[in-house]
Amino acid sequence: MMRSPASWDSESDWRVHALCVGEDPELFFPVTETDAATARARAVCRRCPVLRPCRDWAVRHGETDGVWGATTASQRRAIRRAILLDR
Ligand code: SF4
Repeated sequence: MMRSPASWDSESDWRVHALCVGEDPELFFPVTETDAATARARAVCRRCPVLRPCRDWAVRHGETDGVWGATTASQRRAIRRAILLDR
């Protein structure tokens, strides 16, 4: 069974405030990353008090699957590319 993003082992305490704990993990790991498939997970994320640290963690660690901090894997790849180009 998949775990929701915030139930993964932690290196910081932002996960204790995660709204996705208790949500269906499949919401956060849809088969496709279309707007329709990720909408419910992103709606949870937008209400989450730790959206920013979650998204930053996923970008920093190169998370290649799932919705983290209201972003899809493609969006995080774009963020990483933009950060690298900005250096
Ligand atoms: S931003 Fe989304 S994925 Fe991250 S902890 Fe909050 S609800 Fe979970």
